Amino acid sequence: MSEKFQAVVIGGGPGGYVCAIRLAQLGLKTACIESRGSLGGTCLNVGCIPSKSLLNLSEEFHNVKNLSKKGIEVGDVRLNLNKMMKNKDKAVTVLTKGVEFLLKKNNVSYFKGIGSFKSKTEIAVKDKENNETIINSEKIIIATGSVPVSLPGIDFDEKTIVSSSGALKLEKVPKKMVVVGGGYIGLEMGSVWSRLGADVHVVEFLDHITPGMDKEISSEFMKILKKQGLNFHMQHKVDKISKNESGAIVSTIDKDGIKKDFECEVVLVSVGRKPNTKGLNLEKIGVRLDNKNRIKTDKNFKTNQDNIYAIGDVIEGPMLAHKAEDEGIAVAENIAGQSGHVNYDTIPGVIYTTPEVASIGKTEEQLIEANIKYKIGKFSFMANSRAKAIDDTEGFVKILADEKTDKVLGAHLIGPHAGELIGEIGIAMEFGASSEDIARTCHAHPTFSEAVKEAALSVDKRAIHS
Ligand SMILES: Cc1cc2nc3c(=O)[nH]c(=O)nc-3n(C[C@H](O)[C@H](O)[C@H](O)COP(=O)(O)OP(=O)(O)OC[C@H]3O[C@@H](n4cnc5c(N)ncnc54)[C@H](O)[C@@H]3O)c2cc1C
Repeated sequence: MSEKFQAVVIGGGPGGYVCAIRLAQLGLKTACIESRGSLGGTCLNVGCIPSKSLLNLSEEFHNVKNLSKKGIEVGDVRLNLNKMMKNKDKAVTVLTKGVEFLLKKNNVSYFKGIGSFKSKTEIAVKDKENNETIINSEKIIIATGSVPVSLPGIDFDEKTIVSSSGALKLEKVPKKMVVVGGGYIGLEMGSVWSRLGADVHVVEFLDHITPGMDKEISSEFMKILKKQGLNFHMQHKVDKISKNESGAIVSTIDKDGIKKDFECEVVLVSVGRKPNTKGLNLEKIGVRLDNKNRIKTDKNFKTNQDNIYAIGDVIEGPMLAHKAEDEGIAVAENIAGQSGHVNYDTIPGVIYTTPEVASIGKTEEQLIEANIKYKIGKFSFMANSRAKAIDDTEGFVKILADEKTDKVLGAHLIGPHAGELIGEIGIAMEFGASSEDIARTCHAHPTFSEAVKEAALSVDKRAIHS
């Protein structure tokens, strides 16, 4: 059986399904192929959504347990992990079904199965029963995402040695958990299990967590996480992980060559993700990869083959769902003859711990390296009335603006609702705003967003409340 389309997207993650919907909106006969059996990709199935569900529920558990400190007696608070996991699964199901509905509503044909290139214009889709359908298409967009990587010689069994996917479905709270890697996924999952009662130890090769983040924010972040009970072992290289009857032993060597073993029930290896091009048969059609095995594209997301494009985690750039989505829209518009574009200078990054951490644009370290003169405005949530009112005062807002033009170059936040607050700075940066533009915008009182306004005022040393 062979079917003909104008555009086919391989992968139904946030890059792929958004791209397919936009292509269909623009009038192209479109199909989307997804192998996992449900749409939404890593993000909805084993990433953003289940992790945020558990972050929220574990935070509620932690907060309720501590309510008596604020004068609210709730009695005995107990955890029902099984129910919590079901709640998380329900959120995933509702959202993945929602995407299926959206594809239908937009007349996108959904093929369940593994897609691989038969030729430059033909994709073979193999379903669970090994039935093959051939799809013919003028344009093909690869959006096959990424998969977790482990350390050399260490395999995930998803019970004792787990990737983020395993860490999202543990059946009981481990007494002790080692998180290898101090990136955002490890810290989010470490926070979840720590709040639920695990003794969490983060083992990190570098001397700081969250590489690439503004250093001032990253060290404040680590201080706060330590206060919450997470243990950090910096400049420790994992040598090997061996399993025993009670779990695993993580053997490390620190920067001075001192060996240390960490015994634990569960070890989460969270050292990064790699682009997923497995089984696509790219060699056959000559699609080129870069030196990190990502699909190489030009600024219009076109590969070295004229009718084949790639977006999302499988190409260069931050592995983030909103980056993949924006690329999906841009490539669809380019294919339809419009001028799709992604501004990589204004892609926010958020860590959904408590407090949240959010950043956009350049870090102070990047500005120094690029020899760009800048001004800094900072404002602490300690002096924000809303934060004071609800006793949630950790963190600060930091805005970096060009020394001469005052144009906002970057912003870095740690504090309550930082992930929401970063939105206004994104819009400001898209419009080329100055810090004065933010400072002169009326912000409602009492809100956390007043901390953004005050940080903008502080760029020219005229903050009112500090
Ligand atoms: C624990 C965790 C938490 C995260 N939290 C966040 C967050 O809070 N915010 C954020 O922005 N990002 C987050 N991410 C990252 C985010 O999930 C990814 O950046 C995003 O999903 C990438 O989208 P994508 O469409 O490029 O690829 P994916 O979402 O990986 O989707 C690709 C899809 O293609 C399918 N596929 C692969 N090969 C084939 C084939 N040959 N045929 C058919 N289908 C195929 C796969 O099954 C997959 O469903 C998180 C990731 C993890 C692991």
